[in-house]
Amino acid sequence: MTYYSTNGQVENVSLEEVVIHSLAPDKGLYMPDRVPTLSSDTIKGFKDKTFVEISDTVAQAFFGEDIPHDSLSQIVADTLTFDTPVVHIADNIYTLELFHGPTLAFKDVGARFMARVLGYFVRRSGSDNEINVLVATSGDTGGAVANGFLGVEGIHVFVLYPKGKVSPIQECQFTTLGKNITALEIDGTFDDCQALVKAAFVDAELNARMRLTSANSINVARFLPQSFYYFNAYAQLDRQGLAERLAVCVPSGNFGNLTAGLFAYKMGLPVKRFIAANNSNDVFLEYLRTGVYTPRPSVETYANAMDVGNPSNFARILDLFDHNHTTISTLISGAAYDNTQIASTIRRVWGEHRYLLDPHGACGYQALVKDLKPDETGIFLETAHPAKFKETVDGILNTDIEIPAKLRAFMSGEKQSVTLGKDFKEFKDFMADLS
Ligand SMILES: *Cc1c(COP(=O)(O)O)cnc(C)c1O
Repeated sequence: MTYYSTNGQVENVSLEEVVIHSLAPDKGLYMPDRVPTLSSDTIKGFKDKTFVEISDTVAQAFFGEDIPHDSLSQIVADTLTFDTPVVHIADNIYTLELFHGPTLAFKDVGARFMARVLGYFVRRSGSDNEINVLVATSGDTGGAVANGFLGVEGIHVFVLYPKGKVSPIQECQFTTLGKNITALEIDGTFDDCQALVKAAFVDAELNARMRLTSANSINVARFLPQSFYYFNAYAQLDRQGLAERLAVCVPSGNFGNLTAGLFAYKMGLPVKRFIAANNSNDVFLEYLRTGVYTPRPSVETYANAMDVGNPSNFARILDLFDHNHTTISTLISGAAYDNTQIASTIRRVWGEHRYLLDPHGACGYQALVKDLKPDETGIFLETAHPAKFKETVDGILNTDIEIPAKLRAFMSGEKQSVTLGKDFKEFKDFMADLS
């Protein structure tokens, strides 16, 4: 398989190139030159398979030409040491719980897979020139990437996060690890962190000195493995005879998760329709309604991992459907909810169904039930455990929710971080000193 850039200005490249560089030189996003399809018999057969077996089939179809069969199977098995169970909420409403990994958010799947694939290519190249992964985080990404890459030889991870703006639970997930993980506490906002990472990628001098890549969902090896759990959800519903007329709702920020679902659909997964759930950052919804896409600065909400004003994977969605607005808006509908609506949804679902939603899942639930038809099976992705947003959820429900042991374990570690200003020169000097 080769990969092309959505901007079309460069030659196709290999998977290795794509994983090591993240973004194409023309600033486009890489796309596989074809979407492999799975036969309907294969997909029907998934109901008798495990999550790892299902994922292996999907992974081999995409990456099997570029990574030897057994190595790839090992990568899949090592990545998926936890399940993504489908849980019934009420009537024809289900959720796919994606928070059973080490940092309790769906990003664990992509981060762990990417770490292993990148580790494989680094080992194979035999180069002892370390690869540096830069990641800007508003909270969840940093933890997933740091834990996914912890201890992987030949790779160093730098997590840039805004000082005082991530929750204490989130912060300890990437500041207490040590080893090949360095937390950089930036005196600024999330946007400042992201600007530093972007500036680093285009700085010729820095790139000549050190190898830099990204672990955000622009990286193929980060977002594409997220298609695994869409097939796993299907298999679980199929076992119960519920997989006809599926409506799948995805709480979305940078749209990596939804894009992975659309890839699953193109591979043959029988989904009737998708729903993109947003918070007040609703540029995608506006595009669905009007055909016009107008990126704008993000606004802060309770569902802060979805506070994105210019979703990076939008270009991939356009590309997948030949920029055809009718095709896209027929397959995908959208909805957006503000903080008041997020809070009332969390209260109502807890009150009526005793299911505890996190603020992102609340957008998903609400967007799904809005116009779910009685003959459909509706499933929304619950992208994080509510305890990751404890302050918000406690405030909304006036309660004190329990923190799972996995999360508490991080909180006993000692914080280690380097404090830097938001000025690029200071960051660049710090990085250059390391090389
Ligand atoms: C990252 C994240 C999202 C948004 O996912 P995208 O792939 O960027 O659309 C939603 N919910 C949670 C909890 C997240 O961490």
